[in-house]
Parts: sequence; structure tokens; C-alpha cells
Amino acid sequence: MWTNYHTHSKYCDGKSEFNEYIDSARRNGVVSLGFSSHAPVPFDCKWCVQKEDLLAYFDNINDLKKHVHDIEIYKSLEIDFIPGVVSPFEYKDDLDYTIGSIHFVDQFPDGRRWEIDGSHELFLEGVDKIFNGNMKDAVIRYFELTREMIFSAAPTIVGHLDKIKIQNPSEKYYLEADSWYQDQILQTLRLIDQAQLIVEVNTRGLYQKKSPTTYPSPWILEIIREKDIPVTINSDAHHEKDLVSHFEETAALLKEIGFTNVSILRGGTWQRIPFNETGILI
Ligand SMILES: [Zn+2]
Ligand SMILES: [Zn+2]
Repeated sequence: MWTNYHTHSKYCDGKSEFNEYIDSARRNGVVSLGFSSHAPVPFDCKWCVQKEDLLAYFDNINDLKKHVHDIEIYKSLEIDFIPGVVSPFEYKDDLDYTIGSIHFVDQFPDGRRWEIDGSHELFLEGVDKIFNGNMKDAVIRYFELTREMIFSAAPTIVGHLDKIKIQNPSEKYYLEADSWYQDQILQTLRLIDQAQLIVEVNTRGLYQKKSPTTYPSPWILEIIREKDIPVTINSDAHHEKDLVSHFEETAALLKEIGFTNVSILRGGTWQRIPFNETGILI
């Protein structure tokens, strides 16, 4: 049995309907399923739920929660944190839990918002024009924003903690072993620990073949284990076929690192449940 709290439907940039995810959950033994489309933002965003569709999104999930009895269904959004613009706090009262993620880091001089997980070309343009070509400053800013989110508008789950590494293939621009990078990770984990948040172990980079490892990287998971920070395995699926993609190898990795439990939502409450490489043990 598995759980997954990070899925994108056709309300945002996902390619599958809620019902297709539910069928996939039945086929794949997913017993607790959360829908988490990209929350609306107050500027043009093609991959976000549009503000005028948000009520329908909520209604649709509420309806499923009422009528689907063999799978626990949960209502969420993956919410961006942009200081003074949007934060996980904005929507949390309507949701069972929140995922807080950084996709936008600051703005170009012409006002365009810089997406850190868009094209590599756009990424390099942002490093150049916003950070005067200083890659290290750009990466540090990403983690600073993550910490500001945790400090000022903590979500339930921290989404793809180190996703900015997607732009550092084969560690082309910096090494994760560099002391400044490790320091950013340690500072961020310290805050996550204090705020008692859940870190997702996100498999999207693996099936997209854009990262050879999970978000976050295994060495970061080792520190998370040492600090006893709770984790949950999510696929960040944009299609029902990816609902449990790479879950077995990720569970095996977590076991190898020494994790004994993962966090799941059960009866509306987060609980830490034993697991092995075939899934959660309930
Ligand atoms: Zn995301
Ligand atoms: Zn996502």
C-alpha cells in the first residue's frame, strides 16, 4: 500500500482527471490520496489553477471526499511563496494540508518573474540579469526564500526542497559538497525541524529523467533522518501513470538510510507509519 499527497490534475498543468487518479490509486494500492494543483497567483501563470476555477476545484474534491469510500481523499494545493504576493497561509483554511514550494525567485529588471524550474535557458538568463551572473547568489536566494516561507507562512509539507538542482546537471556549476551549499541545506533543515514540518521525498526528477536522485538528494535525507524530521513519499504526478513512479526504489533508499517510518494522513491526522520497499505497513 502507498500514499501520495502531491498530484496535479487538469485544473492546473496536470494531464489527468481526478477520476483517472482514483482509478490509478486503486490499481496501485494507494490508500490515501491528496490532490494538490498549483494554487492561483495574482499574475499570469499558465500552469496554475485560475482564480475563477478555484471554487469548482474545491467543490469537485469535496464531492469525491463524500462519495469515494475505499480511498481516503484529501484536498490541497501546492502553493508558491512570494513575499508580499502569495503564501501557503493564503489558502490553508480551505485545505486538509498545504504543500509550500518555491518556483519563483525574484524578478527580472523588466518585471518578469523568474521561474527556477523552467527552461535552462531562462534559468541562466535569470542568473545573469538578476544576480549579475553569480550562480551561488542565485542558489542561496532560493534557499533564503524557502526559509522565509517556513518562518513566516509554514506549510504542512515542504515541496521538492532542493529542486533548484535540476539546473545543475552533473554538478556543472557547483558541487553539493561545497561548504556554502551544505550550509544552506543545514540552515533550512534546522528551521524545518523547529517548525515540525514534513519533508516530501519527491520522485518526479527520477521519472522525468531530469535528476538522477530524489528531491532532496540522498545525503540530505541522511541529515533529515539524523534530525528525525518526518518524511512522506510523493511523486508530484502530472499524469495518473506516474502516481507511484519510483516509489519502491525510494522506499528502499529510505530504509537503507535508516528511516523506520513515513508520514501519512489517516482519518484526517498525520501519523508516522512503518514501511518497507513494498509500501506502508498498515
Ligand atoms: Zn512544484
Ligand atoms: Zn507539484
